[in-house]
Amino acid sequence: MECFRDLPKVNLHQHLEGAVRPETFLQLVKEYQVDLPIDTVEESRQYLQVSGTESSLADFLDKIHRIFAVSRFPGVLKRFAYEAVEDAYRQNVQYLEIRFGPWQHLENNQGVHEPIEQVLAGIQAAKHKYPIDARLIVCALRNDSDPTKNMDLVEVAAAYQNQGVVGFDIAGDEARYPASNFKEIFAKAKKHGLGITVHAGEVGPGQSVIDAIVELSADRIGHGIQIAADFKLVAQVKQAGVTLEVCPTSNVHTKAVSSYASHPIRTLFEQGIPISLGDDDPTTSGINISSEYQVLKEKFDFNSQEVCQIVLNGARAAFLPDNEKQQLISRLELDLKKWQARVDF
Ligand SMILES: [Zn+2]
Repeated sequence: MECFRDLPKVNLHQHLEGAVRPETFLQLVKEYQVDLPIDTVEESRQYLQVSGTESSLADFLDKIHRIFAVSRFPGVLKRFAYEAVEDAYRQNVQYLEIRFGPWQHLENNQGVHEPIEQVLAGIQAAKHKYPIDARLIVCALRNDSDPTKNMDLVEVAAAYQNQGVVGFDIAGDEARYPASNFKEIFAKAKKHGLGITVHAGEVGPGQSVIDAIVELSADRIGHGIQIAADFKLVAQVKQAGVTLEVCPTSNVHTKAVSSYASHPIRTLFEQGIPISLGDDDPTTSGINISSEYQVLKEKFDFNSQEVCQIVLNGARAAFLPDNEKQQLISRLELDLKKWQARVDF
């Protein structure tokens, strides 16, 4: 485990909502006298974490949504963001793209820019204190009943590009709300120069990954693992050069796959798909990005060379301007060589 904390890392797929410290959640519940059955850090952890009895992505999301009980109080999102970046720094993440869905944290009369500003302020404060680079991806929801909300969100996200917003994402029910519904929204995001990543092929069909690439101009895909069932889809993704942000433990917990043994990360990697590793919702899953790298070694037999390749895939797919991306890659290449010299697998 120690060696994976040392590994210099990139994390492109983490949700702020699933990365709240149980200690912080407990403190806020007490401070704001929220009526919840938790009194200790351990109870807070259990309240936010999967128990193993979840049967679907919906059950998993229910756990994540528990943080809404406190997230709307003043300054809380800033604190969440600050602590998430601090936690990333402690796991030797060199570059983090964290994402969140602003609409879900709105207090009455607030504009959607307010939660975005709070999160950006938290990220800035942590970047000021620690030598880590972190950026923000703004998340829309497929099932938002009012399409104008997602259109507004793109405009607001784009307005904060010079303050750290680098990407636009959409999550939610892939089967009932297909990519074609969101063409206009993503065309606008692209026009503004935002990086495009789309949750697709997680529990939904592999075809929705292709739809996200073709119809929404996705630069990256959140999960995308269901393409593994069809060689034609794998070939299309490979040809498009699109990076998959894969989060194996989350996929087990959401029942996207039945177990690590049936997870296709190794196969996709060997087929030449650019794979980056994320932790998705570390608090909900009870993991961190270092333990997820350990999973690569222990469950999927990745050697140190392959682990380094996964880190670099993340850097290459970062939503950074070319010169900054090149600097990140060069620095990581050096640090990864040093890391590799210290490990023996
Ligand atoms: Zn996700």
